Amino acid sequence: MKLIFFGPPGAGKGTQAQKTSEEFNIPHISTGDILREAVKNETELGLKVKDILERGELVSDDIINKLVENKVVDMDSFILDGYPRTIEQAKFLDQALEKANKEIDAIIMIDVSEEEIVNRITNRRVCPECGKVYNLLTLKPKEDMKCDLDGAKLIQRDDDKEDTVRDRYRVYKKNTEPVIEYYRKNKKIFTINGSKDIKDVTKELFNILRGASSDDNN
Ligand code: AMP
Repeated sequence: MKLIFFGPPGAGKGTQAQKTSEEFNIPHISTGDILREAVKNETELGLKVKDILERGELVSDDIINKLVENKVVDMDSFILDGYPRTIEQAKFLDQALEKANKEIDAIIMIDVSEEEIVNRITNRRVCPECGKVYNLLTLKPKEDMKCDLDGAKLIQRDDDKEDTVRDRYRVYKKNTEPVIEYYRKNKKIFTINGSKDIKDVTKELFNILRGASSDDNN
C-alpha cells in the first residue's frame, strides 16, 4: 500500500504511522525525522535546514522533493508522513509517481483542534538515541524521563515549545490545508478524529486500511 498521512503537527501522525508501519510491514518515511537526523549528524543538509526547523518554518520544496523522490519511485509500499506539505510538493509527487507508474492508495487525515495540539506537543518528549516518541500525559515512559527501549534521557524538541507549536499550526493552516483540498478533487480522503484515545484512533485507522487494501485486491 502507498499511503499519505496528513494532520496538523501533534495530531499523532508520527505515532500512528509507526504503528501502521509495524502492523502492515510498510516502510515509514517521515521527512521531519530525516531532517532532524541530518541536523543531529551535522551533515551539509542538516546545517542548511537547522535554523528553519528551529523556527518551525518549511524547508524549501526543492530540498524536500529531492529527498523524497529517490525513495518513493523505487518503493512498492510506503507511508508518507509530513510530505507533501505544499501544493508544489503535491504536484511534484504526482509527477514522480506517474512517471514510475504508481498511485497513492489511500490518504488519511488525522484531525485535532489547535488547543489540544498545544497541550499535547508541549508534553511531548523524544528519545535522542532511537527517536521513540512519548507524551507525559498519554504515553509515559515506564521509568521517569527515560526511554523504554534504550534508557536514554528523554528530551523536548526545540520546535515542540509553545510559541513554535502555534507558528507551526499557522504554517499548517496556510500551506498544508490547501494540499488536502487539492487531493480531495480526485482522491478519497479518510478523516479520523485524532482527539480520541491513541488506541481508538489506531483501531479506526487499521479498519480503514484493511478496507482500502481489500478494495485493492478486488
Ligand atoms: P514534522 O516532524 O513532520 O513536524 O517536521 C518537522 C520540521 O521539518 C517542519 O516543521 C519543517 O521545518 C520540516 N519539514 C518536514 N517535512 C517537510 C516538508 N514536507 N516540507 C517542508 N518542510 C518540512
